[in-house]
Formats: sequence, structure tokens, C-alpha cells
Amino acid sequence: MYRMSEKPLIPADKIRERVATLAREIVDVYDYDILLSALTGAYMFTADLSRELANAQGAKAPHKRIAFIKASSYGDSTESSGKLQVQGLERVHLQGKKVLMVDDIADTGTTLLGLTDMLNEAGAKEVRTCVLLNKQERREVEIKADFVGFEIANEFVVGYGLDYANEYRTLPEIWTLQEAD
Ligand code: 5GP
Ligand code: MG
Repeated sequence: MYRMSEKPLIPADKIRERVATLAREIVDVYDYDILLSALTGAYMFTADLSRELANAQGAKAPHKRIAFIKASSYGDSTESSGKLQVQGLERVHLQGKKVLMVDDIADTGTTLLGLTDMLNEAGAKEVRTCVLLNKQERREVEIKADFVGFEIANEFVVGYGLDYANEYRTLPEIWTLQEAD
């Protein structure tokens, strides 16, 4: 059994503030063509980030594309199965494009590294990665996200798009999930 922490790890107003700043950090250095978002975990982050990116992009905003792929490696557990499955990538036109790859969290790094390799193989001109959360302590493969919302400790988190067995996803804050007896 698991239960939520008493208080959110990151409250909604802190997320909103950071996402707006993060968007400006991205726009300052990366004029990407297409934002590619990894469903399902990144759905809420992607909606908020893309809006803030558009605010920061000005006249360039209408020409930015967005596409979604489905990446999964987890199943109903709090430990990664280590196997990356990707759906929908074949429908996205990436040849010669500068891609901003957006995911919810970098944990072992397997997903982010796998996705980056796939996008490069699909002919992307450049791939930079953005995650809302980074658990550096858990890294097992060598990949550094280019843009990070928050560094967090080695804890299992839910909310703001992140789930545990498909629950907790729609909460507007980030919560820590603790083992209960
Ligand atoms: P990685 O491939 O880096 O080990 O794991 C990345 C994926 O694992 C994320 O996209 C996310 O779906 C899942 N994941 C890793 N850590 C957490 C966590 O603390 N909470 C939740 N809900 N999912 C996580
Ligand atoms: Mg994910």
C-alpha cells in the first residue's frame, strides 16, 4: 500500500512559476521546430510548457509544431522495467528538424537516452531534451537533460501528469508517494 505525503513536494504555484521561467530559458537558447511530448506522464507539463513557450516566442510561436508519442517502460510498479516501448513515432515528420523532446521525469535515464537515439535515427537535425523533474541520483545511463524544471531526491512522485497504476495523474501538485503499512 502507498499513501501520499501530507503536503505536496511541489505546490501548483511553484510549478507554474518554474515552468514559465523554464520556457524563457529554452527560448533564449533553442529555436526548435517541433516539440515532441512523451505521453502519458508529460501531458500536463506539456500543455503548460507549450503555452509559456508560445508566450516567450512572440512572432515565431505560430510556426512551432507539436506532436505526441507514447513511451512506456513502467507497468504498474514503482520500479522501471527497463524496456522502452515507443508508439506513434512513425507518424511524426522529423527529417532535418530541430526537436525539443519533452518528458515528465528522468530517472535511470533509459527512456530519455532511448528516445534521443530513436529521434536521431529518424533523421532529426538536432535533439535537445526537457524534463520537469530530474532524479540525478538514480541515473544508470549517461544522459543529461538539457533543460530541467526541478531536481528532486530519490523518491517516487505522483501528480501533475505522473501516475501510480494510473491514479494520482490529474492532481495539480507533485506529491511524494510513501509506503504505508
Ligand atoms: P527512466 O527511463 O529514466 O528510468 O524512467 C523514466 C520514466 O519512468 C518516466 O517517464 C516515468 O514515466 C517513470 N518514472 C520514473 N520515476 C518516476 C516517479 O518518481 N514517479 C512516476 N510516477 N513515474 C516515474
Ligand atoms: Mg513516462
